[in-house]
Amino acid sequence: MADIIQLLPDHVANQIAAGEVVQRPASVVKELLENAIDAGADTIKLIIKDAGKTLVQVIDNGKGMSHTDARLSFERHATSKIKSAEDLFQLHTKGFRGEALASIAAIAHVELKTKQDNDDVGNCLVIEGSTVVSQEVVVTPTGTSVAVKNLFFNIPARRNFLKSDTVELRHVIDEFHRVALAHPSISFALYNNGGETFNLPISNYRQRIVNIFGNKTNEKLVPVEEDTEVLKISGFVCKPEFAKKTRGEQYFFVNDRFIKSAYLNHAIASAFEGLLKNGTHASYFLNLTVNPQTIDINIHPTKTEIKFDDEHTLYALLRSAVKHSLGQFNIAPVLDFERDPNLDTPYSFKDQNTNVPKVEVDRSFNPFQEESASKARAVAYKKEPTTSWESLYVGLESKGNDSKPNFTEVQFESEEHTASMFDDDTQVEQTHTTYQLHNKYIVSTIKSGMLVIDQHRAHQRVLYEDFLKNLTIKEAASQQLLFPLQLHFSPQDMVIINQLKDGLEHTGFVFSNVKGESVDITGVPVGVPESEVSIILEQLISDVENEVPESHFSASDLLAKSMAKSLAIKTGQSLQKDEQEHLVNKLFACKEPNVSPTNRTTFVTMSVDELDKKFI
Ligand code: ADP
Ligand code: MG
Repeated sequence: MADIIQLLPDHVANQIAAGEVVQRPASVVKELLENAIDAGADTIKLIIKDAGKTLVQVIDNGKGMSHTDARLSFERHATSKIKSAEDLFQLHTKGFRGEALASIAAIAHVELKTKQDNDDVGNCLVIEGSTVVSQEVVVTPTGTSVAVKNLFFNIPARRNFLKSDTVELRHVIDEFHRVALAHPSISFALYNNGGETFNLPISNYRQRIVNIFGNKTNEKLVPVEEDTEVLKISGFVCKPEFAKKTRGEQYFFVNDRFIKSAYLNHAIASAFEGLLKNGTHASYFLNLTVNPQTIDINIHPTKTEIKFDDEHTLYALLRSAVKHSLGQFNIAPVLDFERDPNLDTPYSFKDQNTNVPKVEVDRSFNPFQEESASKARAVAYKKEPTTSWESLYVGLESKGNDSKPNFTEVQFESEEHTASMFDDDTQVEQTHTTYQLHNKYIVSTIKSGMLVIDQHRAHQRVLYEDFLKNLTIKEAASQQLLFPLQLHFSPQDMVIINQLKDGLEHTGFVFSNVKGESVDITGVPVGVPESEVSIILEQLISDVENEVPESHFSASDLLAKSMAKSLAIKTGQSLQKDEQEHLVNKLFACKEPNVSPTNRTTFVTMSVDELDKKFI
């Protein structure tokens, strides 16, 4: 029998390939936008007519193509983006398969205009159903314009298969959003049937989201940040109360590429567990950055599915990062990008006062109320003008002898004393809410019972957030030293000092001279004793050297943590009443008062009920 196998002509092969790459106008939009990004454009315009059925045009200001490349770009497997199979695992471009233009040209009328920067004129190429109709020299701006007209003109079945304009336009806009969200540093515009539908200037990520989804979105966003060896996460989740009934706004980007992943979506859903009303879905805009070697994007022609080497770790990291942010958000104020350029930091500090959690301290509480408190104080005052809590016992002792308060007696002693006694009295009233236990814990009363605070951990939390704020907004107060302090370090340590110098300066340190193996310090953060400086720096150097692997924090975090650790009130340190009060207030003004910077519990509460049980 005669041989029957033959190679398909190119235009047929292209048409078959097109079936995979181009399902609808939105697919063309995706491919053309991605080519424009790969060409290094920072301004990209998308023009649509009849939901893309009549026209999809993308105009970019990227690097353009030479005369020969313009022609070659329409060949199948013609790409400038990879050269060998190994390159598939080092991808830094959107495209790499070299088949988009060839596929599109097989099923539409395409007009390409392109010019490179150093050329005076560009090229215009017209291709219809894989056939080159013309190629001529034209005057055109630097960059590329690809106009795709009459999609599926030669495959009526596919054309008829397209949905209504409303549905197709929805797909086009979805695709536009995905690309625009992944690239806030590129300006995008979308014109539909002659009208401007979107105009997205270059901006930060938060603004890009708001420009696309509307101003109201701003208040819904909770930042998510995590930086680990295997995965960097940045972006936003929406607060649970704004969860939607549809799965609309769910975006994962891996290395700036929009992807779909039911598995990772599940990680987010589980982080939101218990926070969402039934039948609603969390919205998210999350950018994941992973080593390109650990993913395979080549498993689907539209490249929206990715195979990860270690999905389980990604799942766990993603879930915990989102959970962490949601936890933080419970006590964090609404962020506002208009006024705060540092939204991508884990904390916003500008509204610190608005953020006091509701720990209701009963300021008038006095455990010895039934006794004659005023008498007690009067006696205490006469004996020793102290406001420490022992004075209460002094009053207690005298109770048996004289249970009636005798104010007049004191008042007559001296007008002056009386006045100061009343001053004292109010002060005592205020500070009676805290007691120091074993120079270690601060005990305070709250409505439901009592609060026990670990003074060292609590102070670490307070200092940590302060330092982090200073590192973020970069305007810490500094106190000048009378004589510069010269410290000496090993060359190895000097490397670290040099690395941290900028950060340290943001916390209030002033270095006048850093060279060789010595450092001259002329200013230190307000409140840092000169004698502590060398200890702080040594501690910091050792913390940097021994950074525990499970802590995924940036250098700023480490710096803030280390300084907080060095400077925090130690266990064993006796605190005045006002110091205790101040610490309690500062702690509860923190974003995350419950834990120390190293995630240790800062306070515990015990309710009256629990106490009652102990007395049964
Ligand atoms: P791929 O993007 O996978 O390489 P395409 O068929 O989409 O394949 O494009 C083929 C080639 O044409 C690209 O590799 C690139 O060199 C060139 N090209 C396509 N679009 C543009 C553009 N907008 N600007 C500059 N070059 C482009
Ligand atoms: Mg491409």
